[in-house]
Amino acid sequence: MVTPRRARPHPGSIQPPGTVDGSCGSHHKCGRGRTITDISQALTLLKSHFGYDTFRPHQDEVVTSALQGNDALVVMPTGSGKSLCYQLPALCFDGLTLVVSPLIALMKDQVDGLNANGVPAGFINSSLGPSERDSVQNEALAGRLKLLYIAPERLALSGFRRFLDSLKVSLIAIDEAHCISEWGHDFRPDYRNLQSLRQQFPGVPVMALTATATERVREDIVAQLQLRTPTDVLASFNRENLTYRVVPKSTAFSDLVTLLRRHEGEAAIVYCFSRKDTEQLAADLKANGMQALPYHAGMEADARRKTQERFIRDDVPIIVATIAFGMGIDKPDVRLVVHRDLPKSIEGYYQETGRAGRDGLPAECVLFYSYGDRRKHAFFIDDIEDPDLRATAERKLNQVLEYCEVQTCRRRHLLEYFGETWPEDSCDGCDNCLTQTEEFDATEIAQKVLSAVVRTGERFGEGHVNDVLRGRGGKRTQQFGHDKLPVFGIARDYTQDGLREIVRLLTSKGLLVRNGDKYPTLALSSEGRRFLKERSTLTLAVPKADAGEVSAAGTGAIHYHQALFDQLRALRKRIADERGVPPYVIFHDASLREMASRLPQSPDSFTGVSGVGRRKLEEFSDAFIQVIRGFAEENGLTETTGPGAVSPAPRRAPRADATYDRTRELLPLKLTIEQMAGVRELSVNTIINHIGQLVSAGGRVDIDYLMPPPDRFARIEAAFRDVGSLEYLTPVRDVLGEEYSFDELRLVRIAILAHGSAEVVDT
Ligand code: ADP
Ligand code: ZN
Repeated sequence: MVTPRRARPHPGSIQPPGTVDGSCGSHHKCGRGRTITDISQALTLLKSHFGYDTFRPHQDEVVTSALQGNDALVVMPTGSGKSLCYQLPALCFDGLTLVVSPLIALMKDQVDGLNANGVPAGFINSSLGPSERDSVQNEALAGRLKLLYIAPERLALSGFRRFLDSLKVSLIAIDEAHCISEWGHDFRPDYRNLQSLRQQFPGVPVMALTATATERVREDIVAQLQLRTPTDVLASFNRENLTYRVVPKSTAFSDLVTLLRRHEGEAAIVYCFSRKDTEQLAADLKANGMQALPYHAGMEADARRKTQERFIRDDVPIIVATIAFGMGIDKPDVRLVVHRDLPKSIEGYYQETGRAGRDGLPAECVLFYSYGDRRKHAFFIDDIEDPDLRATAERKLNQVLEYCEVQTCRRRHLLEYFGETWPEDSCDGCDNCLTQTEEFDATEIAQKVLSAVVRTGERFGEGHVNDVLRGRGGKRTQQFGHDKLPVFGIARDYTQDGLREIVRLLTSKGLLVRNGDKYPTLALSSEGRRFLKERSTLTLAVPKADAGEVSAAGTGAIHYHQALFDQLRALRKRIADERGVPPYVIFHDASLREMASRLPQSPDSFTGVSGVGRRKLEEFSDAFIQVIRGFAEENGLTETTGPGAVSPAPRRAPRADATYDRTRELLPLKLTIEQMAGVRELSVNTIINHIGQLVSAGGRVDIDYLMPPPDRFARIEAAFRDVGSLEYLTPVRDVLGEEYSFDELRLVRIAILAHGSAEVVDT
């Protein structure tokens, strides 16, 4: 039975006494009796309270719907900004927005974050003592709160329901709404209590939010919550700032260390299969001088809470955990998620990797894979008694293996798994798209390698097999008589590394397996045997010879002063600790990077930084500006303003070759920079960057015609020399004066670097 949508925007509940809090009532039009229904006014509040200039995809649609009093079902992936979908309308409404959330640990962080933005909010859950609870309730009753977070089990208490009755509720938001569905992966019986809210507040719009996209769950949410012709938002599940990679596990530990070093000082989560693994690996990492803590469900609740806290507070950057870790974590700046072992399912993998890069900045997801891991999982799957459950677990595991072995775009594979199509062949954000590979006929070499493994009895390690294949007659080879085997020396034309790569590929193809952990030996899988017996053909793909290592998605893309960023982080940490909140509540990394790039030194320009709203401007600008100014003075830098000063993180890492090549093709046409920018629909800045890349890659490109006339060129070159560094342009421009443009300076710098003016670089 569907009742017509939207009875009255506000039911006849008791009018709250008192005024809306000053931070809300005084500088925008959400004072008593007024409700903002206009998205452009909401946009003003977005900047003044949250410091953001624009909506993320779908946010405007959801906010508009709420402002019109409609119900909504919002399905958006982790990190896409669901919270804002109800937090912003909450500011626009006259009454209170009730937020139901199952994650008690998150409530406090959310409320801290809102308060830091000058939004009056509170929460009520079992972590509060009676007097704290009373005081929050009183604030709510007095109309002083814009948002009230509650745990679902509260709704079972009649006293609490009476309290709600006395509130003026304008919007009800149900976070993690899939918890209401038994079809979902974490059904919570408490969520069934939510049905009573609809009866209690018949005219109040309900917004259900979740990151679970299956149709069944979506339908169930609508039915259970009795949503009325809800605005239905189903966002793409693509996480464009995440890079996906699968890497062979053979040298997992040293690869992991390298990876973590690359992300030094940044937050990382390493998922392991077992509790014991987490402890061992954390200890190994510590022994390698890294700050890492283990986390698993077998730990005491208190120790778990503390570990989580230390991670959120940036006291410890690396957590080595089982999948028990992550549910209650909203940390926006996790830059790396590693799966040291195979995940149990694609759903799980997507959820776990989804914890990376919630702030929209580039982040990496790396999965270590060896075919042998399959057995580790199969072993536990065999233990499952229920045949249906066992079959499901097997199917899920096979899907994961398929993901690991796919040679086409991984992003596409993941999205298609979730029923979404990815429109392009390449995503520029997974190892398969970023590493250019070439295929070759591997039939013969595969036969040779597999035969050598068989002939040596499938009880030797890779090194030995490698020696035999290349005809290396060392002591060990002779000792076992392997120099007499017909396979001895049949792959003499391969290098040691070349053969290693072949073994790796055969292992990841599942033809070879490694047995034993410490000194693994090579053996054939049943597939490997079949391959030999049936004399099948085999094609393998290897990275092209000149293809560099896959880089983290655009980590170098935002140009900012790392040293300043570190200083700003330290300041943020100090302020956060003083206030007992996580650092990201003060500012996100994205804001700090922007500061470290643009060097804003006045309140006016500081406001322009994304994430700086009114409250944060008032509270923090002095301290941050002081640090920025100090750094700028020390290094002779000035503020850079205007568009183009910061190149925002590219939504996708550039597909280097393709895009540069297109720019390269324009050079022989002798187009000006502006013309090239026009043709390519890119900024002048980007074109200059391309040219820089083309030149530094050592290509023969004629850029002379782009240079300023000789006398100007000479003067710019001299100025670089005076300043003594090629790194910063501002001091050079200060020497030269206004009539020289930064673009000119950039071009000349490219030429200097191309011709290797060592004197300049070295001084
Ligand atoms: P979700 O709940 O969907 O996982 P969150 O609500 O936690 O995502 O938002 C993820 C991050 O994005 C948060 O850190 C939030 O501050 C940020 N964010 C949300 N909306 C915007 C916006 N319009 N502009 C910039 N950042 C935003
Ligand atoms: Zn891809």
